[in-house]
Amino acid sequence: MSESFKLFRLQQIDSELDKSFLRIKEIDRLLADDQQVRSSQLILDHAKKEQFEAEKRLRLAEQNVKEQRLKIERSQAALYGGKVTNPKELQDLQQESESLKKYLSSIEDQQLEAMLEMDEAEANFSEASEAHAATELQVAEQKDQLSVEKSELLLDIERQQNERNAASANIVPTEMGIYETLRKQKNGIAVARVLEKTCGACGSTLSAAVYSAAQVPSTITRCSTCGRILYTG
Ligand SMILES: [Zn+2]
Repeated sequence: MSESFKLFRLQQIDSELDKSFLRIKEIDRLLADDQQVRSSQLILDHAKKEQFEAEKRLRLAEQNVKEQRLKIERSQAALYGGKVTNPKELQDLQQESESLKKYLSSIEDQQLEAMLEMDEAEANFSEASEAHAATELQVAEQKDQLSVEKSELLLDIERQQNERNAASANIVPTEMGIYETLRKQKNGIAVARVLEKTCGACGSTLSAAVYSAAQVPSTITRCSTCGRILYTG
């Protein structure tokens, strides 16, 4: 087994581990994110408040109509009760009755409007309730799936770490040191595969000397451009 192959194998495992850890980080972020549920909760709270306000307006309008009808009844009773006989007083009562009826008609319109607003507010609230429940369910399902994925990833990581221990057992410390340093410097990629005499990581063409050196199994050769360890297999 060539030295560069051992490092290449280690690189493959480390890249898988990097991918697993990155995904776990993303999953943790998604699991902690409750933006969707909070948004639909806000919409629901708002709809509830609107419904409450609409109901208050409707009750007030109903009360106004009721009181106005009582006033009219009292005025009519006085007008037709027979107790008032003075024509001037009767005329005043008649006028009062007319104006009370006119105002009743106006506040009945307000009541009708309040009823329509109440219907709309109720429909909005019911829609917001359903949407919120659906969002909660959907988010819970997504989070369940993510939790399952995370458990599987943790098992993968355990397996990958065992593979890594086995793969690094036969690598000499100096080469391991170079590899680890390159991993830190080169965005996680320390070993580049050579494809058609070209460095697979940076794309530069290898000189004939470097290319033939890279094929010697007992030593490692690094790309003269990016410095990565070259693997020609
Ligand atoms: Zn290179």
